[in-house]
Amino acid sequence: MKILVLGGGGREHALVWKLRESPRVEKIWCAPGNGGIAAEAECVAIDAGDVGAIVAFAEGTHPDLTIVGPELPLVNGLTDAFRQRSWAVVGPSKQAAQLEGSKIFSKEFLARHHIPTAKMYGTYDSSADVYKALNSVAWPVVIKADGLCAGKGVFLAPDVAAAKDFVERVMEKNELGPGGRRVLLEETLEGEELSFIILTDGNRYAPLVPTRDHKRVFDGNQGPNTGGMGAYSTDELLPDDLRETIRLTIVEPTLSGLAADGIHYQGFLYIGLMLTKSGPKVLEFNCRLGDPEAQAILARLDFDLAEVLSDVAAAGHLDPSKLRWKAGAGTCVVLASGGYPGKFESGKRIEGLTSLGQITGVKVLHAGTKLLGDAVVTNSGRVLGVTAAAATLEDALAAAYEAASRIHFEGMHYRRDIGAHPTRQKAAGD
Ligand code: AMP
Repeated sequence: MKILVLGGGGREHALVWKLRESPRVEKIWCAPGNGGIAAEAECVAIDAGDVGAIVAFAEGTHPDLTIVGPELPLVNGLTDAFRQRSWAVVGPSKQAAQLEGSKIFSKEFLARHHIPTAKMYGTYDSSADVYKALNSVAWPVVIKADGLCAGKGVFLAPDVAAAKDFVERVMEKNELGPGGRRVLLEETLEGEELSFIILTDGNRYAPLVPTRDHKRVFDGNQGPNTGGMGAYSTDELLPDDLRETIRLTIVEPTLSGLAADGIHYQGFLYIGLMLTKSGPKVLEFNCRLGDPEAQAILARLDFDLAEVLSDVAAAGHLDPSKLRWKAGAGTCVVLASGGYPGKFESGKRIEGLTSLGQITGVKVLHAGTKLLGDAVVTNSGRVLGVTAAAATLEDALAAAYEAASRIHFEGMHYRRDIGAHPTRQKAAGD
């Protein structure tokens, strides 16, 4: 098989890593890829969101399978363009990707199909209307920009002044671009978060192993939100009774709701959950694997990823029994640029990458790096995802942190409490 992977972050490096383990894979391209992926696949300098350029590339190279990593190509209609040409591609249609591309679409979907979620106060087209609505909400209130905002479109506002400041920046100054033209207000949910991801062919589905990510930049869940500073996966995150509740109240109503709405959904569906006192509730849908959740999940993979994804995309038939997972744990610790998630400099030389060979179970996945001559340099806020799998979470964390301690670049920082026990996280104020 020849496979094209779209995207250039840690999630895509994880996909390439596992696809290469399949004996059926003879060639992988990655567009655009990064400095680490370049050692394992042929990187092609095309933006993953540029549908025309990706189609032209595939016309010339004929991949047997294309896997979409990030959301932008989905929202831009890439899978529709591929399916019109009968090319095998993993990922939902542009219409289905509205579940992620529009918070209002997804909220209306959840309400229509009676799927548990935070209560919505309303949707608004103007800042004046939001200000009026703020008079009758409970605090803190959650404000969500409707469209894609690179992870910056959700704000938990503690009071009116903070809410107005966010709304002004999003709706009047357009700081987040067109994604901020409409917003919604909803109640704040309390509890632990859980990432529940499924793979579906539109009829059958298989859950991946559960994960939890760490969004705040500093230990103890302090500081601003990031794209994700790390993640871990263990089966203990999902006791059997919770798994059953999620299946019955969330996953199956979501899939039957999509079918009832005439939306064929194929690919990964990420369900972000809040485990509240009154049961699990949906925070958000993403139409793809999470990053860095994918790294922690794929570290536990024990099946032929190329075969299963080809079953889904080329044959349209998922066999859930093929998805097998290593017992134990997977984890990913993100090494970030100095200043991230605020301003940071790129181009810092990364040292220590070659000294990691002896640490069992560790794989350093590149998120934002590029090659400069024979050096690997930083090229983004999240630079590396040090990923490990082991028989226990403690062992996986020990291996990942041992590897992280051998890597260095100017300004590098990372959280020391990835995988911390949920009650500790709660005590720290998450
Ligand atoms: P979303 O992109 O909708 O998942 O929002 C990003 C993050 O904001 C989530 O992972 C939660 O940490 C937080 N969040 C979103 N909606 C709510 C809510 N209704 N209550 C509490 N936290 C929320």
